[in-house]
Amino acid sequence: MGSKKKEDVRYSKDELLTVSITDIGNDGEGIGKIDGYTLFIKDAVIGDTVSAKIMKAKKNYAYAHLEKVIEPSKFRQEAKCPIARQCGGCQLQNMTYERQLQFKQNKVRNNIVRLGGFDGDFIDSITEPIIGMDEPWRYRNKAQYPIGTDKSGKLVAGYYAGRTHSIIPVDDCYIGIKENKAILDAVLKHMEENGIKAYDEASGKGLVRHVLIRKGFTSDQIMVCLVINYKGSKKAGAEFIPAQAKLVDALSKVAGMTSISVSINTEKTNVIMGYEIHTIWGRNTISDTLCGLDFEISPLSFYQVNPVQAQKLYEQAITYADLSGKETVWDLYCGIGTITLSMAKTAGHVFGVEIIPDAIEDAKRNAKRNGLSNADFFCGKAEEVLPEFYKNGGYDGVSSNDALHPDVIVVDPPRKGCDEKCLETMLKMQPDRIVYVSCDSATLARDLRILADGGYELKAVRACDMFSWSGHVETVVLLTRTT
Ligand code: SAH
Repeated sequence: MGSKKKEDVRYSKDELLTVSITDIGNDGEGIGKIDGYTLFIKDAVIGDTVSAKIMKAKKNYAYAHLEKVIEPSKFRQEAKCPIARQCGGCQLQNMTYERQLQFKQNKVRNNIVRLGGFDGDFIDSITEPIIGMDEPWRYRNKAQYPIGTDKSGKLVAGYYAGRTHSIIPVDDCYIGIKENKAILDAVLKHMEENGIKAYDEASGKGLVRHVLIRKGFTSDQIMVCLVINYKGSKKAGAEFIPAQAKLVDALSKVAGMTSISVSINTEKTNVIMGYEIHTIWGRNTISDTLCGLDFEISPLSFYQVNPVQAQKLYEQAITYADLSGKETVWDLYCGIGTITLSMAKTAGHVFGVEIIPDAIEDAKRNAKRNGLSNADFFCGKAEEVLPEFYKNGGYDGVSSNDALHPDVIVVDPPRKGCDEKCLETMLKMQPDRIVYVSCDSATLARDLRILADGGYELKAVRACDMFSWSGHVETVVLLTRTT
C-alpha cells in the first residue's frame, strides 16, 4: 500500500516545472494547473508564466517555490519592500493594487457562496463594490516587533518570516509609520549599550520580547510598550529595564511620544502582550479621533490598525444599521467602543460587550469623554454575557423589552467568528437588523448560514480593504429579519 501511494504522486521534490498562473489562492498565492494537477506558488501572480520548483507534492496538488518569472502578468509589479518575499507580513506586494482589490472582493464572494451555501448570483446581486484605500502605504497605526538576536549574536528587531519564528530584520516597513525606525533604533542601541539581552524563546531567558508601537493618526500621539520577561520587584519606582531613565530619555525625544510603558510577560507562549502594564513615562493612553469622536486607547485594547479605512467601514455599518435616533443597539465584540459610540450619536440606547477589561474601561471613559450617556458596557464573553442577560431578563437596572429585543445587533468578532451560543441568543432576541463586521470571510460565511437558517435574509455585502498587500480583507454584511 505504502509504495503504491508513492507512485500516485506525479512530481517529486526539487523538480522544476513551467506553468501558467490562472488563479489566486486564499492567501494570495498563485495557482497553476498542469493536466489537472494543481500547483500552489507563493509570490506568483495571476497571468504570470513561471518556472517553479516542487517543494512538497501530494496526490493531486503540490506546493512549489517561485524560481523565475518567465513571462510577467500585466498585474505584476515590483515589490516596494526589499524583504517582501521573506517577511510574513505582506503576501501581495507583487500584484497591482487594483487587481488585489478584485481578488479580495472575489475571495469574500467565493467564501460566502462555497462555505455558506448561498447562491452565487444572489450574492452578486446584493454585493456593493469593495471600499479600496486612497493611499495603500503607511496605513498601519500599530506595529509589534519581535526582538531577538541573529546568527552572529547581534540584536535585531523585525518581523517573523512567514509561518516561522525566525526574525527577519526590518529597516523600514512601508505599511507602518515612519517613526517606528527611530523608536526601534533607540531600543536596540540602549540594549546594546547596557548589555540587555533579547528574550530567547527556547530557553525562556533574556528580557526584551517585543516592542509595541501605536500612533493616533489624528492626534499624532505615539505610544511605546516594551513587552518584557521581567521577574523582579514591581514596587513603585521599580526599574523594569536596566538604565531605564536613559531609555526613557531617548524615547521621549521622538516627536509625538506620549506614553511609554512595559508589559510583563514571563510566560512561554506565542501571546505577545502580558496582562500587567506599568506606565514608566507620560500618560497611560493615547488618543485618536474616529467618526468625529475622541477615543482613548490603552496598550492592551484592540483598536483598528487602519483608522482611515476603519472610519469608512464604520460609516458603512452605520448606514446598514439605519438609525433614526430611537433605536436600541447591541454592539458585540466592541473593543474600546468605537462602533458602539459612533452609533450612540444616532441611536436611542447602545450596549457594548467586550472581553478585555482594559478595553471596557477605555470604552466607558470614551463615552464620558464624548458626552454620550446612552451607552452601557459589559465586560465578558459575548457568548456568556448575552445569553445570561437574555435569560435573566436583563440586569444592572437594564431590563426593558427594548434591550431584550433590540432593533439592531452589530457583531465584529475576531477571526474565529461568533460562538454558536452567541448566535443562538441573537436569534432569540429577534433584532430587525443584524450588521455583521468580519475580518475572516470563512467564519463569516459559516455564521451567515446559521443566521439565514434562523430567519434572517442577507440584504447587502460589502468588502473593505483594511490590510493592503496582505491577503486579509474586512467585510460588512446587513441581514434583516424575515419571520
Ligand atoms: N469593534 C471593535 C473591536 C473589534 S475586534 C473595533 O472595531 O474596534 C474584536 C474584539 O473582540 C476585540 O476587542 C477582542 O478583545 C474582543 N473579543 C474577543 N473574543 C471575545 C468574546 N468571546 N467576547 C467578547 N469580546 C471578544
